[in-house]
Amino acid sequence: MIEKKQFYINGTWVNPVEGRDHPVIDPSTEEACAVISLGGQADTDAAVAAAKAALPGWMATAPEDRIAALERVYEAYKARSEDLAKSISLEMGAPIALASTAQVGAGLTHLKNFIRAAKAFPWEAPLGDHAPNDRIIHEAVGVCGLITPWNWPMNQITLKVGAALVAGNTMVLKPSEESPLDAMVFAEIMDAADLPPGVFNLVNGDGAGVGSQLSVHPDVDMVSFTGSTRAGIAISKAAADSLKRVHLELGGKGANLVFADADEKAVKRGVLHMMNNSGQSCNAPSRMLVEASRYEAAVEEAASIAAKVEVGPASEDGRHIGPVVNAAQWDKIQDLIQKGIDEGARLVAGGLGRPDGLNKGFYVRPTVFADVTNDMTIAREEIFGPVLSILKFETEDEAVQIANDTPYGLTNYVQSTDDQRRVRLARQLRSGMVEMNGQSRGAGAPFGGMKASGNGREAGSWGIHDFVEVKAVSGWAAE
Ligand code: NAD
Repeated sequence: MIEKKQFYINGTWVNPVEGRDHPVIDPSTEEACAVISLGGQADTDAAVAAAKAALPGWMATAPEDRIAALERVYEAYKARSEDLAKSISLEMGAPIALASTAQVGAGLTHLKNFIRAAKAFPWEAPLGDHAPNDRIIHEAVGVCGLITPWNWPMNQITLKVGAALVAGNTMVLKPSEESPLDAMVFAEIMDAADLPPGVFNLVNGDGAGVGSQLSVHPDVDMVSFTGSTRAGIAISKAAADSLKRVHLELGGKGANLVFADADEKAVKRGVLHMMNNSGQSCNAPSRMLVEASRYEAAVEEAASIAAKVEVGPASEDGRHIGPVVNAAQWDKIQDLIQKGIDEGARLVAGGLGRPDGLNKGFYVRPTVFADVTNDMTIAREEIFGPVLSILKFETEDEAVQIANDTPYGLTNYVQSTDDQRRVRLARQLRSGMVEMNGQSRGAGAPFGGMKASGNGREAGSWGIHDFVEVKAVSGWAAE
């Protein structure tokens, strides 16, 4: 059994002051694979104090020095990629091939994009020719509390730490208690990057403990959070009394608009995207809206593709999907599948229970519902499992209306070969991102949502912007 009970505070590994043992469960086997410690107020206070003490020095460094530090992080991250992948796979159930490629790779890409964005960032820029003695200074916000989820853990951690670090902030990371092991490898990476003590700190804990303590802490200037909309609301309320900046990346219920003129791979692409990472992605295209004339064929195709998606243990090599993260998530998904059946949706693939031959482990059958209407629970709630809902639409206007009729606004998708239509839809869909015809967003594109999906933007220069204060200065000595 792995035992990792220490926290990383002020440049060194320390024993918890108020630690409680917490088992980390391998979702492929339902057995404990590690034990960590959940910290308490004294641990949070020690980490925040270290970050506060390190702030004046770190925020005064030249951007070039911080970029050099991030380059060291990037190299150290590359060197530990295999350890990161093994930890992610073990604790949250991503098959090892997915963990080694997309999961770990996302972090590497984000770090690289931050290095590039920071080199071009206007840290101190003139206001304009009309005001030669004005400067706009971008400086650190201060001490940041970074609270992250388990579903794409390295993706989320690097998006926050990379931006915060290069912008001159100091920080306390509280990773998800479901996925602490990869975060602890990441702390070793930060240690290897030779940063001044206190710039980066890690304390494990749960939401009610360290998460809430960071949210209310008077010495934390900003909380950057990725996770559920429920916790995002709780954090916003908790942070209100200290007026700290709150940056939120929350859930989603993405629509994937498939028009009759969509390319022939559109439906397959949509189903596989939904099933990827066992459906545990905030930007999953979980509502497939299909134009009436292609509807029945799309339902048939989606059902047959889902039926071929294999499910298996995370440690096995291959392109199967793994279990979902824990028992609570498995139960929630089963409840929602039952609700889909009860509310009259047509089950065309998968369904309740575990896939054949998998009696232990939090495995879910890749499931597709057809004839879903947008008022059904499975069309409204984020399921966070391999469950696709298919809805029918008659006109483009109706498709937009259904897509936008959701509390969320993270990513919507459009499949159509009509160039004009795609441009119209990109403008009308209410979401932070619109991805069309299976083309991924480019390097450094901002990631984030509207409405109940949050208010922040992460990655590239937009990600850095969210971690800086903007200071307007007049009377600057002409250079
Ligand atoms: P969660 O909200 O339960 O937990 C996320 C993190 O917040 C964990 O570290 C947890 O300990 C902490 N936390 C929980 N309650 C808290 C509280 N009251 N105060 C402070 N911290 C608290 O979410 P999860 O189940 O780990 O992650 C899944 C959710 O994250 C999904 O809803 C998903 O859509 C969302 N998500 C969003 C994005 C995005 O960028 N928009 C990315 C990934 C995941």
